[in-house]
Amino acid sequence: MDTRKFDNEGKTICPECKKHYRPALGERFSDSPIQVQFPKSTQVQREQLMTGLCSQKCWNKHLGLGKPIRAKPRKKTVKGRK
Ligand SMILES: [Zn+2]
Repeated sequence: MDTRKFDNEGKTICPECKKHYRPALGERFSDSPIQVQFPKSTQVQREQLMTGLCSQKCWNKHLGLGKPIRAKPRKKTVKGRK
């Protein structure tokens, strides 16, 4: 489903950062699913043609995920302890 908003030049407007841009894949050429039309596309690229979210960062923000969670570095195990 295409829920995007367009500016008057036909560019896609990102609902998060309000950037005006052209989707990396171009526009789809039929009503068949994006995965079928662009089998090698990434999720973010497909998202550009559906929700209009321009990047993984905006996608995370849109879902309310905020910053990606970083794994805490493991403490080094102390060897040779007696
Ligand atoms: Zn964006």
